[in-house]
Amino acid sequence: MVHRPLRLTLDSDALVSNWHWLAHKGGGAACGAAVKANAYGLGARAVVKRLQDAGCRDFFVSTWAEVEALEPWPGDLALSVLHGAGPDDMAVAATRIARPVLNSPEQVRRWRETGRPCDVMVDTGMNRLGLAPADVAAGLLDGLRIETLMSHLACAEEDTDTNEAQRKGFREVAAKVKAKRLSLSNSAGVCLGPRFAFDLTRPGVALYGGIPRREAAPHIRQVARVEAQIIQRRRIGRGDRVGYGGTFLAERDHELAILNIGYADGYLRGFSNAGRAKAGDTPLPVVGRVSMDLTAISVDAAPDLKEGDWIELDYDLPEAAAQSGLSQYELLTTLGSRFARRWT
Ligand SMILES: *Cc1c(COP(=O)(O)O)cnc(C)c1O
Repeated sequence: MVHRPLRLTLDSDALVSNWHWLAHKGGGAACGAAVKANAYGLGARAVVKRLQDAGCRDFFVSTWAEVEALEPWPGDLALSVLHGAGPDDMAVAATRIARPVLNSPEQVRRWRETGRPCDVMVDTGMNRLGLAPADVAAGLLDGLRIETLMSHLACAEEDTDTNEAQRKGFREVAAKVKAKRLSLSNSAGVCLGPRFAFDLTRPGVALYGGIPRREAAPHIRQVARVEAQIIQRRRIGRGDRVGYGGTFLAERDHELAILNIGYADGYLRGFSNAGRAKAGDTPLPVVGRVSMDLTAISVDAAPDLKEGDWIELDYDLPEAAAQSGLSQYELLTTLGSRFARRWT
């Protein structure tokens, strides 16, 4: 088997422990899992398997291609397609176990013809996807077989009156709809407590180690560890520059190591002169710009490192977000295909 010089180590225990904590925070609500975008880049099939074993029964993807990638889908698990069923999806959607989350009057009319069960999204203030409450009140959903009625919080990461307003708006719409279950909260919403959980929660990023709100920080464990191998060592002197654009200018001698990772792997240019690797607890700062496939770090503090050694990049999500200016979501979903992904 060909050797891969960069690897993603994925912690099954941390994933499952995060799910249990989120389930607990939701009070009596069932806890689902958003596994769209290949489970935020970590590998949807592996994530579904582990969460299924932990007791998770409700999963969410965005598109029908993501459904197909997860087939054969276990008959005892629910799978919802957040983008619903567009005109080009119908042939496939009408033959699958997965349910569309209907988002517009067009989708509702199209799906009603099938007589099949569905979920429905109502908009309570985000103005992204979802039906207008007025359309629902006017009877748009009459005759549909609705499993889960849902809405989505726009600002759950913040302390703002918007959250309570959306919760109230959702309750009002829900009172007019016949649905088996109600669902409002993503990861950050779950942290707002059981009042926001209704019957089913839909966390994503916190399962994978993201900290959506301060309250979660002591409980959510990091799932992904990013490591790359050293390709070569070099020494630079005062006045030397490093990388494209020469953005790092040495003011003294430095020992460098060049790592087998770059922006094509999702280690994006925001980490240029800002990211950190580590050797044990010793931080090894990124110097110069991150290239497509290569990143230079200073190893002044770890003189024994050599070609072939594995180096861990600091990818603690809130920390790495602060370093790079990227969101925790972007940090996960951009992780590329060149990693060897290994679940522990
Ligand atoms: C992505 C998504 C989620 C999960 O959101 P996180 O913030 O990652 O927890 C839940 N619900 C909907 C509708 C989504 O699009």
